[in-house]
Amino acid sequence: MIPCNPCVAICPVHAITMNDINDTPAVDFEKCTGCTRCVGICPGLAIFVVKIKDEKASITFPYEFLPLPTVGNIVHAVDREGKTRGTAKIMKVNTRAKTAVITVEVDKTLAMDIRMIKVMNHD
Ligand code: SF4
Repeated sequence: MIPCNPCVAICPVHAITMNDINDTPAVDFEKCTGCTRCVGICPGLAIFVVKIKDEKASITFPYEFLPLPTVGNIVHAVDREGKTRGTAKIMKVNTRAKTAVITVEVDKTLAMDIRMIKVMNHD
């Protein structure tokens, strides 16, 4: 655990709260608008945002590898254990924060599993 709170300060709707700098942040999901600003500001790379619509899920998470993927690319969708679970489409690459933040689209059945991508080799 890293004692820090930039997510609390950056959230425009005050959806993230902490009683103490050493606490785990609490998110009020009724307030959260899904803007994803907290994702890129977190030094611990600990925040991701999942949105589900119809049969698809969009997952936004920090990405610290280069080169950055390109919007429209199809990549491997990887779970917490590093296993490829399917494919993902790159929907957005945001370099507004120091850490790049990417949004991928996957089948909604993978919404709570996919937390990283792996670029496909086309040798
Ligand atoms: S996604 Fe946006 S609204 Fe939701 S907790 Fe993060 S900064 Fe706040």
